[in-house]
Amino acid sequence: MGFPELGLSPELIRAVTEAGYTEPTPIQAQAIPTVLMGRDVLGCAQTGTGKTASFTLPMIDILANGRAKARMPRSLIVEPTRELAAQVAQNFEKYGKYNNLKHALIIGGEGFAEQEARLMGGVDVLIATPGRLLDLFERGKILLIDVKILVIDEADRMLDMGFIPDVERIVSLLPKIRQTLFFSATMAPEVKRLADAFLMNPKEVTV
Ligand code: AMP
Repeated sequence: MGFPELGLSPELIRAVTEAGYTEPTPIQAQAIPTVLMGRDVLGCAQTGTGKTASFTLPMIDILANGRAKARMPRSLIVEPTRELAAQVAQNFEKYGKYNNLKHALIIGGEGFAEQEARLMGGVDVLIATPGRLLDLFERGKILLIDVKILVIDEADRMLDMGFIPDVERIVSLLPKIRQTLFFSATMAPEVKRLADAFLMNPKEVTV
């Protein structure tokens, strides 16, 4: 099965073709139609499986097909490290090059001014590490009430790094009615507990 059969739009097909992808990886083949349908996903997959495209591609399609007027973030991707967040932002730029969506990279280790300015301009997607996201929220720079798609990526690493309380706080700030995509390389009991708390009747995808 190729990318067109998964239900992606021509803009996305063009972007993935230019990225040099000839066919979807197993996680993409399972997750992309599910995400486009609006269903939650519990993905058990490591880095290197094509996991990032399995959530960014359908997210771009969903966002591009129904743009709100006020540009409050409608998607939030939470990553455990700055490096992973930066990689996801690069993927987002690559796959979204034919869609007019704006994203902000919200990570620690940099000044606040630039990220705040970017947020002021209105963004569709936030790609964030937990600490800086909460900092900006406390400063009143981020509104999360319009978030309709949440991605929790590398949940097992969030656990290892002690980020679970921050992640729980972030999720408590989001609308209850939303789509949640949750990825982890392993499903330790604490990770499973989080998945159970955040997801509603998810499709389980394991590769
Ligand atoms: P990830 O698992 O998201 O870290 O992706 C691993 C690598 O696979 C990245 O460098 C992607 O650019 C690449 N990739 C993702 N999807 C595909 C695909 N369908 N065909 C070929 N390469 C891909």
